Amino acid sequence: MLQQTQVKTVIPYFNKFTNKYKTLESLSKINENQILKLWEGLGYYRRAKNLLASVKLLVKVYNSKLPDTLQEIKKLPGVGDYTGNALLGFIHNYPTIAIDGNVKRVFARYLNKKDTKINFEKLISSNKKNLFITNRNSDLIEALMEFGALICKPKDPKCSQCCLNKSCRYLKSSNKIETNKKKKLKVMNYNIFCYLSKKKQIALTTKNEIKFLKNFNLPLIKEMKNNSVNKDWKFLKNYKNSISNLSLNINLYYKFSKKIPKSYNWYSLNNNKEFIPSFTKRIFNQVSSLF
Ligand code: SF4
Repeated sequence: MLQQTQVKTVIPYFNKFTNKYKTLESLSKINENQILKLWEGLGYYRRAKNLLASVKLLVKVYNSKLPDTLQEIKKLPGVGDYTGNALLGFIHNYPTIAIDGNVKRVFARYLNKKDTKINFEKLISSNKKNLFITNRNSDLIEALMEFGALICKPKDPKCSQCCLNKSCRYLKSSNKIETNKKKKLKVMNYNIFCYLSKKKQIALTTKNEIKFLKNFNLPLIKEMKNNSVNKDWKFLKNYKNSISNLSLNINLYYKFSKKIPKSYNWYSLNNNKEFIPSFTKRIFNQVSSLF
């Protein structure tokens, strides 16, 4: 849940999940729609699908126990080096480090190097004696992440309070290598077209071809080009929406219609039962102003 998402956003979802499903077995019995509904609003829905697929696999193949090798853990859908190492450390207390953005920055600052120039796997394996001087390995993983978030912060690191300040190369160097450059959002321009019915319904399709929201129920979306929009479509408004590393500039158009194309179905704008991704929910809100 925490991938690309802030702790404060995740907490209510995490509590809802753990209150409702207290064991792997109980979670393994639900279907994709049920998990998506619980995840609704958290975004990056691939995570929910992977979580469910992993839980089902753990229950069916691994007798509800987490495997104890990175190679085996990485067979779980959506689990790569980062999550695999975190699980090995947290669950099995293995001496390993999960390299997230915070931890990368701590190492990069300490060595005063660009993180892209550091081979983290090699660095960890050749410094095992210095890094794992405690057998509280699961705490070490968490402590490193917290250290990056609270002390060696992206902006204004708290060097005077830092236990590494005597040997930190970043602090000593007159040529400090900056690590907190933010990735630029890619701006995309889209025209979105909604079919509406007088019954306060919107036509949606699961057959869209938009990369960033594949397989979700969405209105017709087309990249904005210089070509003009057919007069049948009425312009409602322009608004911005950010998804992942995309900044979307959206022109929203609508048309009241009884007929809709084959791949579409009508959905009530008050639909609260089914899973609707937040991007689409936002469109629901915009078109609701027409009723
Ligand atoms: S001394 Fe400053 S820059 Fe170096 S590791 Fe500590 S907080 Fe980070």
